[in-house]
Amino acid sequence: MPALVEARRWRAVLERDARYDDAFVYAVRTTNVFCKPSCSSRQPRKENVHFFRSGQAAIDAGYRECAKCRPMSGQEAERIVRSALEFLENRLDERTTLTDLAKHVALSPFYLQRLFKRHVGVSPRMYVATRRAERLKANLRNASSVASASLNAGYADERGAYGDAFRSLGMTPGQYRRRGDGKSIGYKVIKTPIGQALIAATPRGIAAIYLGDNVQQLEADLRAEYPAAKITRYSSRAADIKAQLDSAERTVREQLRGHERIRVSFDVEGTPFQSKVWRALTQIPFGETRTYQEVARLIGRSGSSRAVAQACASNKIALVIPCHRVVRSDGNLANYRWGADRKRELLALEKAG
Ligand SMILES: [Zn+2]
Repeated sequence: MPALVEARRWRAVLERDARYDDAFVYAVRTTNVFCKPSCSSRQPRKENVHFFRSGQAAIDAGYRECAKCRPMSGQEAERIVRSALEFLENRLDERTTLTDLAKHVALSPFYLQRLFKRHVGVSPRMYVATRRAERLKANLRNASSVASASLNAGYADERGAYGDAFRSLGMTPGQYRRRGDGKSIGYKVIKTPIGQALIAATPRGIAAIYLGDNVQQLEADLRAEYPAAKITRYSSRAADIKAQLDSAERTVREQLRGHERIRVSFDVEGTPFQSKVWRALTQIPFGETRTYQEVARLIGRSGSSRAVAQACASNKIALVIPCHRVVRSDGNLANYRWGADRKRELLALEKAG
């Protein structure tokens, strides 16, 4: 470290200058503790001080966080917690141990547990459990009031706790976006060789494509998927949505005829993992299939084939995101959201095309 930088840092420590709190930490060899420049504890002798660019670097060098000034509670801790949250969000369908998580953020499990709890309000394990239950609840929404009611018990507090954490971390909870809050959605229903297709779009892109035989059911499904959106059947006045719907309809028809997919925009929210899977699906050529394992490998997550299957099952955009082209390695088609028969029909159609 240049002497000048070292001198400036030392002066910041002497003056307990809080402006430097995010710039560096200082560790004291005699106490084995590291502090923010503004820490109010007794000042060390200069020859015992060692500067680090980050608290993480001090921890790596074997120092402990000062209990008084909590140098890891600022921006750096937020960055670590954010990274841990992202890691967990990406793996909600997998079993992630505290050790895995700790390794990912390069902290000891013990220390990470404390840091996480302090910022998020619950332990990583509780966080995952709550998020899973919440997702399950969202899936059951409108499906069965009994089931969702029984899932409800005791959640209010934890949810409040990490809701606050999300806010303090400046994050938007994805689950609210996924409900369609603030979205304005238009839809139309078209006839296809494999039944009715409901196509829904926002001005930004396709929000859903469902297949079925009963139009009322398809409409109900759309409302269940986006309970907080403003949903209207397409009318020619909504010019911005018309463009998206037309392009979606064209794509569906082309797709069924076996033409190369034209470019369309999507307006769907998924977890980062789901989005990755959905993107990978669009790369499977017409008339071909992949197994769940192959898709997992394709996105660099071999071993996550169950999570891939779940991401396929939660696809909202039939045909255009061709989840029907993913099959189990034993050839079983049972998992298609719009029915195994329809999946078989689609695959046969593509093979013949
Ligand atoms: Zn301190």
